[in-house]
Amino acid sequence: MPPEPSSLLDAKGVEAGYGTMQVLWGVDLDVRPGETVLLLGANGAGKTTFLKSLVGLVQARSGIIRLGGEDITRMRSSDRMRRGMTYMSELAVFPDLTIEENIRIGAQALGHANPNGRMDELYQLFPVLREKRRQLASSLSGGQRKMLGVAKALSAEPKLLVMDEPSAGLSPLFVKEVIRVLSSLQGRGLALLIAEQNISFLEVATRVFVLEGGHIRFSGTVAEMSGNEDLHRAYFGLT
Ligand code: ATP
Repeated sequence: MPPEPSSLLDAKGVEAGYGTMQVLWGVDLDVRPGETVLLLGANGAGKTTFLKSLVGLVQARSGIIRLGGEDITRMRSSDRMRRGMTYMSELAVFPDLTIEENIRIGAQALGHANPNGRMDELYQLFPVLREKRRQLASSLSGGQRKMLGVAKALSAEPKLLVMDEPSAGLSPLFVKEVIRVLSSLQGRGLALLIAEQNISFLEVATRVFVLEGGHIRFSGTVAEMSGNEDLHRAYFGLT
């Protein structure tokens, strides 16, 4: 079937795994330009495996992945990145490099002619990183490190930022801060795909996909999800 004309990312029937263990069983997910999609699932549901198959760090065994209408299923990870998709893993920053060096690495990957201009823009978004730009990333708090991870990812000027558990290792206060940063990115034409087990991220999502045991159990708007009694009970703790 041809991709939805409005999709930026369109994954259909993605199957993937490790050795003899199959983790994903025909996952369908799409992201439209500029929207924020949440991929919600418990530990071990297959979220990381799915994101890695999108960005080319795990090879999909079957299915098709399109970015901007182009089939990228067999493409190298670096070529996917050049086409506008950037991956932010849980371990997104290099602790032994300075803040500025970390951000430059993101831009260098694409060979940007004017990384300084981009740097200024990023520092406007994250003023605390400008203040600390010559310090090692290891000196930042957990929340600030996540911001640096986002800044580093954005320096590659993606159309789609794919984020794996931005809440990992953060206290609830820092999770709120990350959510605030993500909301400030919305409306800039950037699409976000966020894999999380923390339902607080529903606050920034336009649509949600629920992954369970490598299958998509639900896809729809946040309102549709909360209207679904089983999901409401499972994810919102309804008694
Ligand atoms: P988490 O939030 O714990 O990262 P997840 O939803 O991202 O969970 P995955 O990391 O994709 O889930 O893991 C799905 C399954 O694949 C799990 O059973 C996990 O143990 C297994 N798995 C993940 N990575 C590998 C690997 N490199 N080799 C073998 N099995 C793996």
